[in-house]
Amino acid sequence: MKWHTPLHLLKNLGLRRASLLEREFGLKTFKDLLYFFPYRYIDRSKIYKINELYLATAEVQVKGRFTGFQEIQGKRGKRLVGFFEDGTGIIEVLWFKNYAWVKKAYKPDEEYVLYGKISGSGHSFSMIHPEVEQADMFFKQGRQGLMPVYPSTEKLIKAGITKKVMQNIMRELFSQTGYSFRETLPKAIIEKNRLISKSEALRYIHFPPDLNLLAKAQYRLKFEELFYLQLQLLLKRQNRKQKIRGFVFEKIGDYFHRFYKEVLPFELTEAQKRVVREIRKDVKSGRQMNRLLQGDVGSGKTVVAMMSMLMALDNDFQAALLAPTEILAQQHYYTIKKWSEKLGLRVDLLTGSTSNAQRRDIHQGLETGDTQIIVGTHALLEDKVQFKNLGLAVIDEQHRFGVAQRAKMWRKNLTPPHILIMTATPIPRTLALTHYGDLDVSVIDELPPGRKPVNTFHVYDTQRKKVYDFIRREISKGRQVYYVFPLIEESEVLDYENLETGFQRLREIFRNEAVKIDMVHGRMKPAEKEAVMERFKSGQTDILVSTTVIEVGVDVPNASVMVIESAQRFGLAQLHQLRGRVGRGAEQSYCILITDNKISDDAKIRLRTMTETNDGFKIAEVDLKLRGPGNIMGTQQSGIVKLKIADYVKDAHIMLAARSAAYRLLESDPMLSLPENQIIREVVKENYKKSGFWNYIG
Ligand code: ADP
Ligand code: MG
Repeated sequence: MKWHTPLHLLKNLGLRRASLLEREFGLKTFKDLLYFFPYRYIDRSKIYKINELYLATAEVQVKGRFTGFQEIQGKRGKRLVGFFEDGTGIIEVLWFKNYAWVKKAYKPDEEYVLYGKISGSGHSFSMIHPEVEQADMFFKQGRQGLMPVYPSTEKLIKAGITKKVMQNIMRELFSQTGYSFRETLPKAIIEKNRLISKSEALRYIHFPPDLNLLAKAQYRLKFEELFYLQLQLLLKRQNRKQKIRGFVFEKIGDYFHRFYKEVLPFELTEAQKRVVREIRKDVKSGRQMNRLLQGDVGSGKTVVAMMSMLMALDNDFQAALLAPTEILAQQHYYTIKKWSEKLGLRVDLLTGSTSNAQRRDIHQGLETGDTQIIVGTHALLEDKVQFKNLGLAVIDEQHRFGVAQRAKMWRKNLTPPHILIMTATPIPRTLALTHYGDLDVSVIDELPPGRKPVNTFHVYDTQRKKVYDFIRREISKGRQVYYVFPLIEESEVLDYENLETGFQRLREIFRNEAVKIDMVHGRMKPAEKEAVMERFKSGQTDILVSTTVIEVGVDVPNASVMVIESAQRFGLAQLHQLRGRVGRGAEQSYCILITDNKISDDAKIRLRTMTETNDGFKIAEVDLKLRGPGNIMGTQQSGIVKLKIADYVKDAHIMLAARSAAYRLLESDPMLSLPENQIIREVVKENYKKSGFWNYIG
């Protein structure tokens, strides 16, 4: 098949240049080259008359003849001036170096097309070192139009693969392969979405006759890329729903009812009720649940997790809750233990720091089924941990877990447990569609009643004294304060010094006052950490100085002030998570972002966004715009698919169109068995072989 032909067999390319293209860009075959797209285009469609040049900006093209050359001795050396006229006027063309060949090469009776930067004004213009082409050749080769510019490197240019050479290589590819390519979308989809054909699209993406056709080519190729991405996700979901059987939790029983009536300390919000119903429906369906629960910080996901776990227990299954950090696991453990007391449940905690003796005990409890709910960290994923019958696994703050780890939870049983993934990281919709495209999604889009938005301020470090006064006032009203220092791994030692210094400074400031200050950070022993957190929770401590270990999940409703030092060093998602630690009680809460006055423009936008809104989804959109999808929290480890031509942010509308096309296709032909859909089947199969992409979500 010609598309798998090795690149060096392309006419006029040669082994050396072929291997350079492979080394620099991984291009091995004709097909790789075909899919090596330009990243911009130079508009060479317009040819200016010299007497219109006053209208032009930057790069222009003119067509005419050289009427003569003159060598001039200037202050900084010699130069060659060529006089170029087109019947409407004359310009000077300048060469400063190595111009011996010029006079011989450009003949007075030939027409040339010049392309270059124009300088001058009024009636006198000049061009320095322009690109010069014989006019006949220029038109014959079809070079009048949008010229593609391909990604390049210094090595390529050194080896003589310039812009123009690269264009010629592409031209050669097209002429050697005959301009015709297999269509990879069925007619119905092409028509419904008004796409141009694959052959046209590939041709126009490299050599667009005009801007309109370029746009059409780009749309078609982006659509196709996103269509297959979405289709694969939807197929995977469909596959799971059809093939993977799940435990049936037939009844809602005693535990659930008693929790609801006797334990639950508040009325559920409508959103919480809706989500509980959605989960209920899943777990009795006979298929394995794989549900993502999105809810902003403080929206009350924990209680939903609890009620889901009770559904498992009511049907004689065990349940597990996985948390990403020790502090968070502990906190969940205490919350759940407290809720479970009245119900007489055995709840255990398993983390890296659980003693060996306890560990043996817990392992046994899990194997016999005596342990009904287990809360833990990664320690739960070890192979040694075996369950009698794990029915449901809840994974909190999922972005901290890799995909492989999620998959591990699955394999704890022959029949995989139901999976509920909870995340407070709001992901913009288009990204969520891709990232979690094969999961079902529930959203808690409502905060418990009585919550007031957190008032957020940005202050410079010169105003610290005011901040201290403010803290003092809040503490005198009985409130508590978090005081956070950044911890960024590259300079870990320095960061700990900052933390320590900051801690001592606060102690100094509040020395003669009845203000109790404590410190917690990731390097402390778990037992120490636990003790510090316990003192803060019970209100014995007024100010908790910490690193971002308190970033996720920690819940102390009486804490109403969050101070963040060097706030410019934090990303938006992290700032939002940190702020989410306050505003959990009925009191007005505050978030104070401290920076010095040397902050970047991006940091300014982040700080402004924080002071302007409490809405996690709005914050996520800004974050996405600032950083691009690859860096959004929650997508890094899980390897979001790298797109070739489409853009997760800019092409959101195409993504939605492609998704709905894929969705409709599967509705009408779930097995892709109709003759007209055989094309799709083939492409899917090829992708599957190539990428292992299907393993990308556990
Ligand atoms: P997150 O979604 O961030 O994990 P939590 O589950 O920690 O939020 O809940 C935040 C706080 O709100 C907790 O103190 C919890 O007890 C409380 N809470 C949850 N749901 C409700 C509700 N419906 N009414 C009142 N308070 C609630
Ligand atoms: Mg939580």
